[in-house]
Amino acid sequence: MPASRRTMLAAVAASALAGCAGPADVISGSRSASGAPRAATGRGTPGLAPQTAPAAAPPVTRAQVVARYGHLKPRNWGFGVPGLTRALPTARRVIALTFDACGGRGGSGYDQNLIDFLRRREVPATLFLNSRWIDANPAPFRQLAGEPLFEIANHGTRHLPLSVTGRSAYGIAGTQNAGEVYDEIAGNQAKLTRLLGVPPRFFRSGTAYCDDIAARIVTDLGERFVSFSVNGDGGATFTPGQVRRAVTAAASGSIVICHMNHPERGTARGIAAAVPYLLASGYCFVRLSDELR
Ligand SMILES: [Zn+2]
Repeated sequence: MPASRRTMLAAVAASALAGCAGPADVISGSRSASGAPRAATGRGTPGLAPQTAPAAAPPVTRAQVVARYGHLKPRNWGFGVPGLTRALPTARRVIALTFDACGGRGGSGYDQNLIDFLRRREVPATLFLNSRWIDANPAPFRQLAGEPLFEIANHGTRHLPLSVTGRSAYGIAGTQNAGEVYDEIAGNQAKLTRLLGVPPRFFRSGTAYCDDIAARIVTDLGERFVSFSVNGDGGATFTPGQVRRAVTAAASGSIVICHMNHPERGTARGIAAAVPYLLASGYCFVRLSDELR
């Protein structure tokens, strides 16, 4: 891109940010009519006593899930099965950036540059955190959980594809049955509920793969399975240029999936290039709870 074009875009981006109904307004706009923060922003600070009453137990038990779904055969498998949310229900120029932190060996890094960029530009985002990543990153977790700019969501307990029959994705064996599906959701749900003071609203499985029966179990556990419409970083394999091209292809209502656990990859630099371009194009960024009621 010529330098003059870059300069022009940067100037437009600055003005777009200032005039955007996005980041700052979106956050204040997430308050209820009474001015009280909605549940998603009313989290207690981890390490301190929750400001809300102790969270309720999951709405269903493991035994109830096994009885209800243990005999059912799934019909669909993948990113787009019935019951999953793949886009925001809006025609307005808003985009939800979501960042997964998968945890486990080789997956528990923390992309400080990415998060610092989002903070600097006041770009809201939804962070899907796996239980193992939280265990490996207690200090970053506490800080992120206390920032209204970010919304914390459930990325599973062991980071498994969500299957009632043991199907695999990308060579990762999925949960084996309905009981294991419950464990994968409820384990990290309990952890997040204890740490945040309120249960997480959104779930995405490890690899984002799911079958239609498992998706119903997510719903029964009081969460919403959020898939994606734009693969922003190819599972944290893309170069910065590939991330920029993928993310700038987002459109009204897109849910973009990227990763915040691989600082050595191209995600941070790609996002830093894509966000100003999208702001200059009139888009605003939201957390999932800003658009999904
Ligand atoms: Zn993941």
